[in-house]
Amino acid sequence: MSAPNKSYDPVEVEALKPEEIARLRDEAVAAIAAAGDLEALREVKVAHTGDRSPLALANREIGALPPQARADAGKRVGGARGEVNRALKARQAELEAERDERVLVEEAVDVTLPYDRLPAGARHPLTTLSERIEDVFVAMGYEVAEGPEVEAEWFNFDALNFEPDHPARAMQDTFFVEGPDPDRESGVVLRTHTSPVQVRSLLDREPPVYVVCPGRVYRTDELDATHTPVFHQVELLAVDEGLTMADLRGTLDHMVHSLFGADVRTRLRPNYFPFTEPSAEMDMECYVCRGESVGNPDRPCRTCSSEGWIELGGCGMVNPRVLVACGVDPEKYSGFAFGFGIERMLMFRHNVEDMRDMVEGDVRFTRPFGMEI
Ligand SMILES: [Zn+2]
Repeated sequence: MSAPNKSYDPVEVEALKPEEIARLRDEAVAAIAAAGDLEALREVKVAHTGDRSPLALANREIGALPPQARADAGKRVGGARGEVNRALKARQAELEAERDERVLVEEAVDVTLPYDRLPAGARHPLTTLSERIEDVFVAMGYEVAEGPEVEAEWFNFDALNFEPDHPARAMQDTFFVEGPDPDRESGVVLRTHTSPVQVRSLLDREPPVYVVCPGRVYRTDELDATHTPVFHQVELLAVDEGLTMADLRGTLDHMVHSLFGADVRTRLRPNYFPFTEPSAEMDMECYVCRGESVGNPDRPCRTCSSEGWIELGGCGMVNPRVLVACGVDPEKYSGFAFGFGIERMLMFRHNVEDMRDMVEGDVRFTRPFGMEI
């Protein structure tokens, strides 16, 4: 700040001339009017009313004037600063009102819009995979057949050529609902496979019969990473004149190509089942590594455990004794059947490592599958 003047020096108080004060005031008021938003107005406020603003500096110069000039200068500067402050306040109110109006429009919430009260769920992958397999066969002219899960022992074992003391009957650990009755000679079981549906289909229909049988089956396994007492199978049965193993092979190839890719190879290995003769185990080439992981420790494959082949399920030509039990003439008709577990296919098709995830009902497991239609 300048020291008080002993004598009046017009040069030193140039900033306090009436026209200069009016100019500073007009400049400030014009800048305030020109501020387009609150942010700009904040800058104008600092520039024109802050400690370093021209009017504040002019105010400080008043002390340097001779006493007789101070009152006039003080009135001019004070008046100008008052006007600037009023203009500032008015513009502030205007801009705030504009902002409030804009926010109301921009952030409006339409409370009448409907919304999902419940998050969208997902179908269980066992269901979608099972349906996808059914679709493959339906497209080939097969019919979807279903049967009871609580089944007469006769349908589950006897009709399928399991003798009463057949070791295979003991091999399958079965839930008995009712033990064998001396009068009826047949107990009641929770079906251990979907094959009784094949028997029912043959008894219900005249050949040719082409059915695909999906469903839940039961065995007395403990629930662990690779076993579950309740699981799902899909079986298919074709009975017609002149069917051969070649028809079975072609049908299974088509299924594998539809589900895993057009160039995946399959192979059959001899096996034994009471209800088919000859019987085979069907393998498909690992669709992930195409066998390249075999003997190659640098490129291990989780899907096939580096074996190159994945065991898919059992199949074969329907045993003539089963055809006879179902009232079909084995001299005229032949048939083939194939069955496999959906859980196991889900495991290797989608890298699910633990079967328990499929039954525990955690939506974090099923939701990623929900997009599959
Ligand atoms: Zn593999």
